[in-house]
Amino acid sequence: MSPRQTFPESPVTLPDPTRPPRPTPGCDVCAALDQQRAEAEEEGNTRRATTLEMEMRQHHAMRPPKRR
Ligand SMILES: [Zn+2]
Repeated sequence: MSPRQTFPESPVTLPDPTRPPRPTPGCDVCAALDQQRAEAEEEGNTRRATTLEMEMRQHHAMRPPKRR
């Protein structure tokens, strides 16, 4: 089970200055999210793409990637 966070403000209407997101090399979650984001953008689904970008950042905020 994965807890879902809710946000007081909509990410949809705000242009995100941190775009484009950078998938962390070697991170399966990033790879999956980045692919879904690309698909969403192809469909013109900006809302979904933005959500996926946020997820890509947040999962590292909770669980940083290991570095060597
Ligand atoms: Zn990642």
